[in-house]
Amino acid sequence: MQYRKLGNTDAKVSVLGFGAMRLPTINDEKNNINKNEATKLLDYAIKNGINYIDTAYPYHGNDFTKEGESERFLGKYFSNSFKNNKFQREDIYIATKMPSWLIKTENDMEKIFNRQLELLQTDYLDFYLIHSVKKDIWNPLKDLNVLKFLDKLKDENKARYIGFSFHDSFDFFIEVLDDYNWDITQTQMNYLDVDFQSGLDGLRYADALGLGNIIMEPLRGGKLANNIPSDIQAIWNSYDEKRTPAQWAFKYLYNMREVDLVLSGMNTMEQLKENIAIANNSLANTMSAQEKELIKEVAKEYKSKKGNDCNGCGYCMPCPQGVMIPDCFKEYNQSYIFNEHEQTKHHYNLVLNNNQKASNCINCGLCVKLCTQQINIPEELKKVKKLFED
Ligand code: SF4
Ligand code: SF4
Repeated sequence: MQYRKLGNTDAKVSVLGFGAMRLPTINDEKNNINKNEATKLLDYAIKNGINYIDTAYPYHGNDFTKEGESERFLGKYFSNSFKNNKFQREDIYIATKMPSWLIKTENDMEKIFNRQLELLQTDYLDFYLIHSVKKDIWNPLKDLNVLKFLDKLKDENKARYIGFSFHDSFDFFIEVLDDYNWDITQTQMNYLDVDFQSGLDGLRYADALGLGNIIMEPLRGGKLANNIPSDIQAIWNSYDEKRTPAQWAFKYLYNMREVDLVLSGMNTMEQLKENIAIANNSLANTMSAQEKELIKEVAKEYKSKKGNDCNGCGYCMPCPQGVMIPDCFKEYNQSYIFNEHEQTKHHYNLVLNNNQKASNCINCGLCVKLCTQQINIPEELKKVKKLFED
């Protein structure tokens, strides 16, 4: 396993982190974790050098408004492992997140944090992140004194390091970075998403400030690893050394000096072994110009299939009708890039509530002049509606 120093923290983390949001389940029920299988995976992961385990309050629950099963399962797993001397508390870093969207009062922060410690059966967290920071969530949280609360966690040694996971524009990323003395950030990055949300520029900016950079969605929810379209596979096959698409995707990230840790939600032993093997061999700044070119070519080919040029920057928001424009386009583009209309339609209807969907657009045109990509947003939203709602 390769390890990297996480920004200016004292933590030396494995370059591959274990995301406990897609553990094996029984009967495909999200809240029914297959404890035997999940235990085998974690045992193997930790034995092979993974030392960063990431979870969050709602993971493995049926909806994001309630506590899920991931933290509870991990708490029991850690406690049994310590008792059986498999490893000790100081051998691992535990990271979890404040469910920002559930915080309605100042007290909620403390209440939920204490519940998370209880579920995880620990007195302290190594990393505590504000989950899913976006403009509409961050400003109300600041009004509830979240920054004071984070200071308190550090002062009382209940959380060693503080960070946030992010889903908004690059400009807003800079604003949030300015708001607090953060230790780490967690952002979405893979070779298709270099301009998406905070993107590559955000990664470099956070690195320059000395923050630790944690990457999520390295395989875009597995889509860059499975069911690869034949034209894309042909590009990968053109390279002399045979690598799987997952290997390419991870190598792309590990090659960046600014990336400290890549999180992956692994749920099979095969996947875990493959990802560990890649992490064992990937150093920063080792990719050749030819390898980089090949990745660029694949990204270009994927992008040629998308519906429109939305990069999720969020400048068009908020829409007075409540339409979540970037999210509508994200699902729409995903649908075309991976040719998965039914699956994406299901996801669109799952993640967007009815008043956030494309059909609420009244064609007022306000967003159009704000779009950085000159997209005719109302026209494109009509296509989204046709694809996912009609
Ligand atoms: S044109 Fe549609 S999406 Fe754009 S601001 Fe108006 S209602 Fe919202
Ligand atoms: S529609 Fe335009 S402004 Fe809105 S998120 Fe996409 S690219 Fe940015």
